[in-house]
Amino acid sequence: MLTREKLKEFALEVAGVDKIGVAPIDRFKNAPADMNPLNIMPRARSVVVIASRILRGCYRGIDEGTHWPSYSIFGYQHLSGRLQAAAYRISRFIEDFGYEAAITGMGASSREWGPWGPAPRPDKPVRDVYLQLRIAATLAGLGEIGWSKVFLTEEFGPRQRLNAIVTEAELEPDPIRTGRLCDRCYRCVAECPAGAIPRDRSVSIEVEGHKLEWADIDLGKCKLTHFGLNRRNGQFLIKRYPGFYLPIEEQQVTWREAWDLGWTIFPSVHFYSVMSIGVPALCGARGCIIGCMKHLEKKGVVKNLFQNKPVFSEEPPWSLPEKPRPATHHGFIYHPENEKKKKIEVKPGRIWY
Ligand code: SF4
Ligand code: SF4
Repeated sequence: MLTREKLKEFALEVAGVDKIGVAPIDRFKNAPADMNPLNIMPRARSVVVIASRILRGCYRGIDEGTHWPSYSIFGYQHLSGRLQAAAYRISRFIEDFGYEAAITGMGASSREWGPWGPAPRPDKPVRDVYLQLRIAATLAGLGEIGWSKVFLTEEFGPRQRLNAIVTEAELEPDPIRTGRLCDRCYRCVAECPAGAIPRDRSVSIEVEGHKLEWADIDLGKCKLTHFGLNRRNGQFLIKRYPGFYLPIEEQQVTWREAWDLGWTIFPSVHFYSVMSIGVPALCGARGCIIGCMKHLEKKGVVKNLFQNKPVFSEEPPWSLPEKPRPATHHGFIYHPENEKKKKIEVKPGRIWY
């Protein structure tokens, strides 16, 4: 017989995840149709949510301002792949007991893609149905959604990725635990290089007496920065396009538009073209994860602690100049400022660019 304890033991000891929790299907009864697990599996009885920690060292180079691949590859792309593999092993374990198990995928922003197609039947929602993983993780008792909208746990604070399995197996549920970690310190707001996390606008839902609330993030500004188009921490972009200036806080773009713009630019910026073998994470989550981690660790509410303290700098986060230096463009690009300057004498043999 499949029990919650058997499943947890397999997930933690064999599949190698760091956390697992179970939500009974009725906790999703008020979920919108495009986020309701019953629209994926009509006979579902439980939703199993798993988490793998992001190595703390992945953030070291970003906090120092010196090294990016560690987070983008091992804290994001590769870790997501590992979690998918673990979800597959756990699902196989469940199906060996005779219960169907569906891995729901890790798309955090499925609504931002827009509807993917017509409803297959009049009583079904427009494709595609995706779980909102952070809500599912809260309902499975893994932790809570912070003001930053990042999922927080007692073990790792904001450092984990999530995945979920919808199953016909009826498993003993875990209790919902909220209100323990995020104290509304707003360090995430202050240290987000995009200014994407508002202090005064939120989204909230209520489930079984728990209010789940998070900031109404500007996903377009976040994605532009996440994709390295923000000069404040876009050193690779600046190197390639020294005069490029996209004032992030003035942009009014959707998540999808920012996504498309990023993929248009990646091929021409060497580092981005290498990193975009998967979805790159070029902001480094400097406000919503690093800033939050510093706060929660200092407060002593995170269990996964380290020998060296303080582990990260207490200085304000580094930031590159937001605006480019005025450039004199010889020849090909008109700049009105150049009209006022002394005419440049062209000498024979001069190399133009
Ligand atoms: S990923 Fe970066 S830009 Fe987006 S909310 Fe977090 S800190 Fe802000
Ligand atoms: S930094 Fe973390 S603890 Fe502070 S408000 Fe943001 S999410 Fe909450």
